[in-house]
Amino acid sequence: MSDLTRMSAAEQAAALAAGEVSSVELTEAHLGRTAAVDASVHAYLDVSAEKALASARDADARRAAGDDLAPLTGVPIAVKDNIVTHGQVTTAGSKMLEGWVPPYDATVVTRLRAAGLPILGKTNLDEFAMGSSTEHSAFGPTRNPWDLTRIPGGSGGGSAAAVSSFQAPIALGSDTGGSIRQPAAVTGSVGVKPTYGGVSRYGAVALASSLDQIGPVARTVLDAALLHETVGGHDPLDATSLTDPVAGLVEAARTGELEGLRVGVVRELGGEGYQSGVKASFDAALAVLEAGGAEIHEVSAPSFEHALAAYYLILPAEASSNLARFDGMRFGLRVEPAEGPATAERVMAATRGAGFGDEVKRRIILGTHALSAGFHDAYYRAAQQVRTVVQRDFAAAFEQVDVLVSPTAPTTAFPIGEKIDDPLAMYLNDIATIPANLAGVPAMSLPSGLSDDDGLPVGLQIIAPARQDALLYRAGGALERALTSGWGGSLLDRAPELTGTTGETEPTEAQR
Ligand code: GLN
Repeated sequence: MSDLTRMSAAEQAAALAAGEVSSVELTEAHLGRTAAVDASVHAYLDVSAEKALASARDADARRAAGDDLAPLTGVPIAVKDNIVTHGQVTTAGSKMLEGWVPPYDATVVTRLRAAGLPILGKTNLDEFAMGSSTEHSAFGPTRNPWDLTRIPGGSGGGSAAAVSSFQAPIALGSDTGGSIRQPAAVTGSVGVKPTYGGVSRYGAVALASSLDQIGPVARTVLDAALLHETVGGHDPLDATSLTDPVAGLVEAARTGELEGLRVGVVRELGGEGYQSGVKASFDAALAVLEAGGAEIHEVSAPSFEHALAAYYLILPAEASSNLARFDGMRFGLRVEPAEGPATAERVMAATRGAGFGDEVKRRIILGTHALSAGFHDAYYRAAQQVRTVVQRDFAAAFEQVDVLVSPTAPTTAFPIGEKIDDPLAMYLNDIATIPANLAGVPAMSLPSGLSDDDGLPVGLQIIAPARQDALLYRAGGALERALTSGWGGSLLDRAPELTGTTGETEPTEAQR
């Protein structure tokens, strides 16, 4: 077998089952790829080669012994570094947690280990998952494998870059306002935010608990479904976990058809502010949906115009409360005040001053202000009211159609440095992804093609009603098949070759 890292997770699983390859060989191949390219991409904050190889040997031994295996046993994976891993450093991209070794596993990690997926390492993110470019990581930005001068999206740029640069076939991410879907869109990968509560949040470093959701990042819709089924389902350790069984996703991804699917194009998630190449790619994908037998309708969700503003009040409010635990006493960093007595309050102030980056401080200040007596009604309560209206707009839209579609993000990957000093410009990247978080409904981003502006990947978002994640996989799987047959292969086959550690790429045909 020539290049193992080019195989999808499903292909790797099939090769393992056929005895054509071992988990150790697969794991070594991906670690080798990381050694060759990650100095230029910086997808990983920590690579755990020894531990990954030990679990690969274990997976191979289980297979040799004829044990009961899971569909992905032996297939390696990367994990976003705001998901805790027992005995493996977890930083959430913050100096606050630099070197912190969690004493327990997140439920999703427990499930990965039980299913025998070697964890290759922990991927980079914006500090505490706040951002849309991975530039807010305390440990330096991740670069987009399609163009190393550009951002890989955020906050989960590391997971998306690892998958799209063939350093891992699949990865876990977290999505509070788009951090799985927007990085997937700008790197040509597939990302899914499951229904709120569909995948356990136990052991995810909390950002905004009513919005946070862990989910899969992959190169194909089928691989995302396989991972979603591996980690999803009820968890008594998460108080908001759904009791629904997570099933039928893989089947839907494999066999889904477009015939008769009622697809709603959300009027408010398009138009002004969306790059022309993004719109063109989206329109072309609509034509493919229609040619496949889907019915296209226009639907309106007027409240979506206010979703971004509501989100940027609710998220900071919840984050300011969740981040109160980083006090210099319980976890990670502790900084003594430069002078004067080291009272608890002064240690806290010194620690938080030194440990948090600018974006995190900005949101803590915003959030405490929005929650404070006298401002609570004007800001936090008003935002919650918008949230209710967003939920009603979704409910009304889903009376007319089965799924909704939009571009995932208004632009393709922008240059590193372009928006870092302009928080509002950064927040606007989330305009199309945020409504799904506010309503708790599931959403997927998959590649719709390359922008004719700049030759970079464009993502299409599919949104389904709560608990109907299988519909995402039905529509996404079918659309992916139709698109890739038109392209003659996966979009990522057209990504430039990363030529080792020099940080150079060959331009693609479209970029020339
Ligand atoms: N870009 C969004 C934000 O900065 C998304 C965050 C997320 O999904 N973790 O809040």
